[in-house]
Amino acid sequence: MTLPADSKARQAIRPVICYPNETLPKPDMPLYSAARETAQKINEVIIPAREAACFHVNAGQFFRITSVEGPQVGDLNLWNAHDLSERFYSGKTRALHGTHITTGERLWSSFPCLRPMATITADTLGWYGIDQYGGSVHDVIGTRCDPYTGNLLAGTQYHHCCHSNLIRALADETGMSLAQAEPHIHDVLNVFMCTGFTRDTGQYFMKASPVRPGDYLEFFAEIDLLGALSACPGGNCSTGHSSDEAACYPLLVEVFTPEAGSLTGWQSPPKNGYDQTHGR
Ligand SMILES: [Zn+2]
Repeated sequence: MTLPADSKARQAIRPVICYPNETLPKPDMPLYSAARETAQKINEVIIPAREAACFHVNAGQFFRITSVEGPQVGDLNLWNAHDLSERFYSGKTRALHGTHITTGERLWSSFPCLRPMATITADTLGWYGIDQYGGSVHDVIGTRCDPYTGNLLAGTQYHHCCHSNLIRALADETGMSLAQAEPHIHDVLNVFMCTGFTRDTGQYFMKASPVRPGDYLEFFAEIDLLGALSACPGGNCSTGHSSDEAACYPLLVEVFTPEAGSLTGWQSPPKNGYDQTHGR
C-alpha cells in the first residue's frame, strides 16, 4: 500500500463531535427525582432466564430493571404503546449521546417522531465509567443476539437468542403471529452489558458485566410505552451467547407511579417539528 506523502498530517486532524448536544431539550432531573420520591410500585414482571416478557409503562411513570439472582444482561425494546411504528432508535441515541448511556440521557424514537421515549433517572453502575479496554455498560452499539448470525457463523438453529425471545414476547402480548411480530423487533439498549470496540481492529467486544444482584437501571417514561426485555442467553456475557452454555438468571422489571400533581410543569414531548415536505 502506498502512503500519501501527507498521511501523518491527515491522520493528525483533530476530530469534531458530529452532534454537539448542548441544544438538546434538557430533562428536568430535579423534578423527576422529586416525583420519584412520591412514587408507589404498581406492577412487576419477572423475565425468566433465556426468555423475554412485555410490560406497559404510562407516560409519567417510572420503570426499573434489576439484576436479581446473578449477573445477567438484558436486551430492551421499547415502542409507543399506541403505535408500534414509533420505536427505540439505538443508532440515533448513539449519535446523540455516545456508545453507552447513563443517568440524564435519553432513549430516542424512530423517524419521523424522533423524541425522547424515556429518560434514565438512576444507574447503580454509573461508577463504572470507561475501563482500560474502552469498555462501558448499557450500550447502544450492539444489535441483539439473533439466530441468523448464529446460523451464518456456526450453522446453528438456536431459538432462545434475544431476537427470538423478543418476537415470542411481543406475539404473546399482542396476539400477532411470529411472522407479524418479527419486523417490530429492533436494535436494543443492552442493559448491564459491558462492551466496546477494540482499538486495534475496531471489533465489537463484550466482557463479564460488572452487574451484581441489586444493581438497577431506572427510567422515566416520557410517552406511553410498551416494553419488551429479554434475559440474554449470554448471561453476564463473559464468554459466549447464542447457546444454552452460559449461566443465566432472571431480571426484574418494576413499574412505579408518582403521586398526582408531582409532575407539574412536565409535558409528554411532542413529535419532532420537521414538516416532512423533504424539499417538495
Ligand atoms: Zn442477547
